[in-house]
Amino acid sequence: MSNLDTRPEEEMLSSGASCDGVELLEPRDVPLGGPRAMNVRRTLPQRQRSLIGAWCFLDHYGPDNVKESNGMNVPQHPHTGLQTASWLFTGEIEHKDSAGFEAIVRPGELNLMTAGHGITHSEFSTQETEILHGAQLWIALPDNERQMPPTFEHFSPSPVISHGAEVRVFLGSMGINEEISSSPVATHTPLVGAEILLAPGATVCLTLDPSFEHGFLLDAGQLLVDGHTLPKDFLGYLPTGRTSAVLTAKNEPVRVLLIGGEPFEEQIVMWWNFVGRTHEEIVAYRKDYMVEMGFEERSSEDAVGDPSEYDDAGLRFGTFPPNEPAPLPAPTLPNIRIKPRVNPAP
Ligand code: MN
Repeated sequence: MSNLDTRPEEEMLSSGASCDGVELLEPRDVPLGGPRAMNVRRTLPQRQRSLIGAWCFLDHYGPDNVKESNGMNVPQHPHTGLQTASWLFTGEIEHKDSAGFEAIVRPGELNLMTAGHGITHSEFSTQETEILHGAQLWIALPDNERQMPPTFEHFSPSPVISHGAEVRVFLGSMGINEEISSSPVATHTPLVGAEILLAPGATVCLTLDPSFEHGFLLDAGQLLVDGHTLPKDFLGYLPTGRTSAVLTAKNEPVRVLLIGGEPFEEQIVMWWNFVGRTHEEIVAYRKDYMVEMGFEERSSEDAVGDPSEYDDAGLRFGTFPPNEPAPLPAPTLPNIRIKPRVNPAP
């Protein structure tokens, strides 16, 4: 999906509190634009924590009745320098992009779009969808790969079922009780991503990579992480150095999304749907998009990227399928320089 804020902020509001070793990152409600548009609960980025590994954005939504929320209704819009990972719990989304991929995003399946130097895509919940419920995550690409050509991958993980736990590892590798589950999808930095379902009263022991930091997003039920309560819709953060975590469901079924990775040391600049390294890059990405979509003219003063950042037709964002709804215009840039996002020193 898109960050549809019509006035994206260069700094995010946040509040949070540590809770005996699990830092709690509170969600904030963000309307995705328009009078009937759906709302999301955003837990990344926020002021106190911009990234977990290379995971730099986490929007959690639903369950929404699409008759009331209007469902997902996001026409063509751009991304740069990141991957988008769509993970659904309920409903279906139709994806189309300018790299030539079309896909139906379904529950329990990873759909991973790599923007590289630039891509545009659209996402609409399908006609058959009555309830929409899921998450969209972004992953920052490292400097040496962030200008790669755009692409799209799909993976349907087989669940590990163990003592009342059902775990789908969609990126990276993780130990689940006595088993190890790995995703075949290549990552550009060391990462893990998984969905964890627990029956009421079930406990699962996860083996963690101690070089990773981790986040646990509680979607449903009542959960203890190493004995500490994680409130629903919060993202619980565990720093590096942990070799395991024990998750316990109380009286209801639990659903958790786990993200983790090696701390991402590069300083990134995020604005709207773009990830770059400098304010000037973001300005150039926005200009390329607005010119390629026909919203603005290019002037001789506009900066452009390296020739390798454009396709054979000279386009950063490629060619979208014809006869689709009109693209979203980019918001106006703020009058100040966009600030880089960095995590506090550990
Ligand atoms: Mn998007």
